[in-house]
This record gives sequence, C-alpha cells and structure tokens, in this order.
Amino acid sequence: MKINAPVHKNETLSGTVIDLTYQGMGVVKVDNFPIFITNTLPGEEIEFKITKVARSFAYGRMMTLITKSPDRVPERDRQYTQTGIAPLQHLAYSAQLKFKQHQIAELLQKAHLDIDVSETMGMETPYHYRNKAQIPVRMVNGKLETGFYKRGSHDLVPIEDFYIQDPKIDEAILVVRDLLRHYHIEPYNEETNRGTVKNVMVRRGYYSHEMMIVFVTRAKKIPMHDQIVEAIVEKLPEVKSIVQNINPEKTNVLMGKENKTLWGSDTIEDQLLGLTFTISPLSFYQVNPQQTERLYQAAIDQAGLTGNETVIDAYCGIGTISLAVAQHAKQVYGVEVVADAITDAKLNAMKNHIENVEFVTDKAEKQMKKWQADGLKPDVIIVDPPRKGLAPEFIEAASEMKPDKVVYVSCNPATLVRDIQLFQERGYQVAQPIQPVDQFPQTTHVESITVLNRQ
Ligand code: SAH
Repeated sequence: MKINAPVHKNETLSGTVIDLTYQGMGVVKVDNFPIFITNTLPGEEIEFKITKVARSFAYGRMMTLITKSPDRVPERDRQYTQTGIAPLQHLAYSAQLKFKQHQIAELLQKAHLDIDVSETMGMETPYHYRNKAQIPVRMVNGKLETGFYKRGSHDLVPIEDFYIQDPKIDEAILVVRDLLRHYHIEPYNEETNRGTVKNVMVRRGYYSHEMMIVFVTRAKKIPMHDQIVEAIVEKLPEVKSIVQNINPEKTNVLMGKENKTLWGSDTIEDQLLGLTFTISPLSFYQVNPQQTERLYQAAIDQAGLTGNETVIDAYCGIGTISLAVAQHAKQVYGVEVVADAITDAKLNAMKNHIENVEFVTDKAEKQMKKWQADGLKPDVIIVDPPRKGLAPEFIEAASEMKPDKVVYVSCNPATLVRDIQLFQERGYQVAQPIQPVDQFPQTTHVESITVLNRQ
C-alpha cells in the first residue's frame, strides 16, 4: 500500500495537542493529517515520535512534554493506560466530567441538532467503584499471573491493584491467584488452546457484601477443586457462591453457556434504590452501583410519573429499572433478549412483592411490534440499549405507539445522536438538556439520559 502521508514512521516532530478523541487520545495535526498520541491533553505542546502510519491517520508516542495542561494530574501507574484500565487517569476528574459533556455536545453539533447538554453528574470518590471484575489468568515468565491485557493485544500485564475496582475484589483475585499457584493449576494458553482456567470473574454486592467467584474454564474439571473451594471459603468469608463456567471454545466471548455451582448459592443478591436483586453469573448488572442509583433516579424523575402511567422498559436486563419504576407507575412491561435475565427479573418482582410488572424474553424490536398489535398504549417508553443503540424497527414501532415520552438511557453518544434524529423524523423532540451521568470514572465511556417528548 502506498501511503501519501505527510509524516513518516520513526520521525520526531513537535506540535500542540488540539483535541482528545473519544478513546482518550490526544490529537496533533500536521497538514491537517491527524496523529493520535496517548497520555497527552489538549493545549499541551509536545515532542513526539511517529510509531505507525495508516492511510488517513498516524499514531505517535510522546517523547517530551514541553508545556503541561492545567488539567493534567500525575499518572497513578503507567500500566493503567497501557492496559486501558484507566485511560483518563492523567486528566483531573473535573476535566473528565467536562470531556464527557463535551463529547455529546460535539456529536449533536456535527448533526446540526440544537440540544443542550447538562454538566456530567460525577462521583465523589471516582475510583474503587466497580462491583465486578473479569480477569484473565495466564502464564507469564513461567508463573501463573492475573492482570489485564495490554491494549490491542493479548499479552497479559500482571496487576494486583486495579484502581477502579472495589478493593475487596482485588483482594479476592489475589487469594484465588495464590491458590491456583499453590495447587499447580494450569492457566489457559491461547496459542495452543490448552490449560484449565481462562478467567476469574468476581462480583461483590455493594450493599450486601455478598461475593460470587466464577472460574471460567476450558476444561470440564478443575483438579483439586474441593481443596481450592474450601480454602477460598475459609479465607474470604464474604463469598456466598463459587461457580464454574465452562467455555471450551477458542473464542473472544468471555463466558460459556454452562454453569456448575461448585459451592454455595447459584446467585448472589444486592440492593439498588432499596430493592433487592438476584444476580446470576451470566446476567448483566450495572457495574457502578452508586452511580446507577443516581442514573435510575434521574431517569425516573425525568419520566415525570404520577402513578397512573403504563410504562415499557425495553432492554430491561434483570428488571432493575422496571421494578424501580413500578413503584411510580400503574403497569410496567419489560423486555429483554437473555432468557436467564428474565428468569431473574420475574424472581426479583416476587422477591420485592411487586405485582404490576410483566416480563417477556424476546428481541425488543420484535416484542414492540407484538405489543403494538395487541393494542398496548404506553405513556412512557424507557430504553437502555447496548452500544449499538436502537434498531430502526424499534423506533418505528415505538413512535407508532405514540407514548408521550421516550426516556433514552444511552451508553454510546454516537448511536444516541443517530437515534434522536430518527425519533425527530417521527414527531419527537428533545425538550430538556441531555443529562450525562458518569458511570465509568477514569475511562472514556459516556452514559447519559435523554427525554424525547411527542409534539
Ligand atoms: N436496563 C438494564 C440492562 C441494560 S444493558 C440495567 O440497567 O441493568 C442492555 C441489555 O440489553 C442487556 O441486558 C442485553 O442482554 C439486552 N439486549 C441486547 N440486545 C437486545 C435486543 N435486541 N432486545 C432486547 N434486549 C437486548
């Protein structure tokens, strides 16, 4: 491939960083050609070396920081950027919140949408927040290690302090690592597709302090598992559930379909907004419990419920939003594609003595058509889709049901802006500022709530 770039590999240049990408990389332009450089911030003058040149952009590595941004804070640990655990660790938290607000505003502007964005709702303590960890187990220099992959690779960097996780989870990972070492359990080797343990997943209830440990294995059997389980239970009294998840395929999908409870309960419980939730190994559960409560509360407030409304909660997971909303509405319908999650959702409704909810397993876009055919007339539709956003058929069916409001919880501003435009074509308008809520401090993820009103 012949590349007509104004820069060359290994060349050293200097310039001013003009922007920060949605992945948290600084941007320097040479003849309008963008160069992406990690650990640099807008306004900083830097000397950098070109490390890779592609057709329409290049990557560089900072060599010297000539002038520093006032928003720069010391890096905690270079490995957090290298592995992508905390790619914004060098940016002051207040500036991270502005960065996220700005991300949404910029995408709206590019789409010529005149919609305001409020200040991002941040956390008081913006680290140690994650209630879940999914940690690869590999052999590094002849030793079993737990850590994180270097960005863009599958090279494991051993890490003990994960910074953004509940420290009790970090502690549990070390206990498990040491036991796997002690019993000479063979870690997974991706190249040969051999070895026993691929990953360890740990979840800890923020309020309940109940802990679940899941061994994701290639093999059907974990040698010495009785001894390992016994030692875990003795060393980690919060553990309520130890599960083996069998994932024999050579795949990037982290968890397999088959779960085997090795000890204790099949599930753990935690609370959100005073409600109790049962969580299965494979169910989606928001990873930042403190901010999730604020996110849900803001969504409920913005939905403007009086107790008389019919509400659809699409992409409902284990029913967390549905059940929180049910207390403020007449009737709630939840839909979700993962059957296990719906089993949990139904159980959660019973557990909390909530009777005005109905849950269905299906693709949201399909179920909306069915509800529409049944003549269901929701007053409010709440959506919380994955990163790819809503299917066009979903938006079509949703607007044909003519709800007064659509409350859109988004984890990806790009698809949010796309979907706002589709709703606008069907007679919906955004009347109040979009509210970003920081669910993932130190990372570039942007979560927000948008309310669309029928005109
Ligand atoms: N509202 C829940 C879950 C949000 S995550 C909570 O806050 O906990 C998004 C959910 O959408 C996941 O549970 C995922 O399984 C589900 N999902 C993904 N694609 C879907 C589709 N096409 N139809 C229905 N649900 C889907």
